[in-house]
Amino acid sequence: MLSIREEVRWPVSNRAQLIAPDQTHPYFTSRRAASNPYESVFTSFRETDCAISPTGPAVPGEPWLLSEVTWKTVRATDYEVAVLPWGATEAHNFHLPYGTDNHEGDYVAREAGRRAWEAGARVAVLPGIPFGVNTGQLDIRLCINMNPSTQGAILSDVAHSLEAQGIRKLVVLNGHGGNDFRQMIRELQPASGVFISTINWWSCVDSKPYFDEPGDHGGELETSAMLHIRPDLVLPLSEAGKGKARTFRVKAFREGWAWAPREWTRVTEDTGVGNPAAASAEKGVRFLDAVTGKIAGFLVELAAANPDDMYE
Ligand SMILES: [Zn+2]
Repeated sequence: MLSIREEVRWPVSNRAQLIAPDQTHPYFTSRRAASNPYESVFTSFRETDCAISPTGPAVPGEPWLLSEVTWKTVRATDYEVAVLPWGATEAHNFHLPYGTDNHEGDYVAREAGRRAWEAGARVAVLPGIPFGVNTGQLDIRLCINMNPSTQGAILSDVAHSLEAQGIRKLVVLNGHGGNDFRQMIRELQPASGVFISTINWWSCVDSKPYFDEPGDHGGELETSAMLHIRPDLVLPLSEAGKGKARTFRVKAFREGWAWAPREWTRVTEDTGVGNPAAASAEKGVRFLDAVTGKIAGFLVELAAANPDDMYE
């Protein structure tokens, strides 16, 4: 099959007109670029186009973002890895939006996808699934639960679609602590020709050097990430609760070697777990740069791997 480099071309001048950064790429707004000391880390898409010809037609959209590309691009590209961001719709203290996990997962997937693509990996970032396992938050208004069995059925359908199309690798990029795809993958893998794997974006890199207290949910890590990704959706930190969480009376649960799900409204009053007070956009961009760089490296290695020969 043709590679995208042979068939699809992007003239620089046309691309610059097609992409209005403030409208179509909120992550790369000129406003943020002007004030962001780490801007060089996130080079503009316009400066990093993969294939450039002064004569070819302009192709809108980033070729690693399935939501933005057409059949013209897809037909011409040997996609090797599909990335499925999977978030949740839930309260995040008083200062972060219900879509926080989706904004974060989508950002990490598209940025890691961009970096992997530029390193030569043919990655397709799929539209994210916006509902997660929230059985412990059913008494919080508009927290939307999707049970693990439903998630397993969706994951199975996505994997079957990819298998029939010859795409042999699928990564579930998890953005929500209540989701756990490992058991679903164990169930699906024996009957699937697609190599399925999963990562939690927030734990790919040790967060301790980046934050005073990372926190679990709506805390310093997540708030810092959102202050970089969608600062327009974050209320002033003076509006946030302290994210104080009650712990189990039973010692084994406190020590972490025994586990049970938490009843969220009995644990926290503001729905947060972790204090966001020390969050900043600077911390967020530093951490996200490390995370997306590491995930991009994984995607490049996975794209080159033979699913029938995965062991050294
Ligand atoms: Zn979250």
